[in-house]
Amino acid sequence: MTIKMRPVRLKTLIISYSIVLLAYEASVGAITPPKEIIEVLTEFTMLIASLVIMFYIDRLKESRSVFWIMNIGASLLYLGLFFDFFEEFFIQPNILDNSYEDIIQTAGFLIICLGIQRWISLHCNLVAQLHKTASTDHMTGLLNRRAFYQHVESDSPLTPIHSSFLLIDIDHFKSINDQYGHAFGDIVISKVATIIRSNIGDNQLAVRWGGEEFLIYFKQCDGSQASIIAESLRSTIEKATFTDHTNSVSCTVSIGLYTTQEQVSYDHGIDRADIALYQAKHNGRNNVTVFKTDEVLDPH
Ligand code: GH3
Ligand code: MG
Ligand code: MG
Repeated sequence: MTIKMRPVRLKTLIISYSIVLLAYEASVGAITPPKEIIEVLTEFTMLIASLVIMFYIDRLKESRSVFWIMNIGASLLYLGLFFDFFEEFFIQPNILDNSYEDIIQTAGFLIICLGIQRWISLHCNLVAQLHKTASTDHMTGLLNRRAFYQHVESDSPLTPIHSSFLLIDIDHFKSINDQYGHAFGDIVISKVATIIRSNIGDNQLAVRWGGEEFLIYFKQCDGSQASIIAESLRSTIEKATFTDHTNSVSCTVSIGLYTTQEQVSYDHGIDRADIALYQAKHNGRNNVTVFKTDEVLDPH
């Protein structure tokens, strides 16, 4: 049989005990003027602070173990401080030997320190998890738009002189959804993302830009390297088969590529890649089209 002591019960027990003790000593008139007023004041302040911590700990909901460590530590600290304060205030023999009071206080303090250390590592893990959740696209695991801008614009709002933008869009994706259903469409999007992720290097960022649209950003890379990767991606996706237990389909992508020749804003780079993508669709889809000012500025 497991005994479950609810946190409120432990606190209620300890606080009731101290109130009864105080009330009893006050009723028998054993109050004595404190010898060292400063000492009593500091002890009283610490006592109140430990009481506040005892109640604040109830808000630690993320981890039972951290909660219990802090709860026991704060309770011991409170008890040790209470005995100290109590003996300053009333004429009566020591309830506890001074060294026991110190041991209780020190044990409480050490357990609280252990709890704080556990809580900090829990907090760091939670922050890392939150950061990951906020910056990645849930379905594909690629970066989302917000994280992309945050990442690239953390150094400067402008790109390096040579960098490349690839915008990739799945061709006729609506018909895959219409024919095989939205859930299967999701599988196709995830698998295209996996192909993209496994074909890019450390210096490149892959982003889920929109529904069935992806961005790859190449930092400090000339157009020819980006063009080779774009062509390889296009052909890998064209050859791939996307399946689940009932369906099997293949698809193609159109890719717009823009390489900067000077420092420009990231939005400028993406706009140009988008124009090239539009042109790729216009050229019959399933191809890589490089942005060239005069040819593609007016895609009509
Ligand atoms: P095009 O070759 O011109 O790109 O044609 P398309 O059919 O791919 O383009 P369109 O923009 O008309 O359709 C994109 C479709 O993608 C429409 C939308 O319902 C679908 N879509 C967007 N996000 C998701 C998603 O997360 N999952 C699924 N299954 N479909 C999505
Ligand atoms: Mg499309
Ligand atoms: Mg699209």
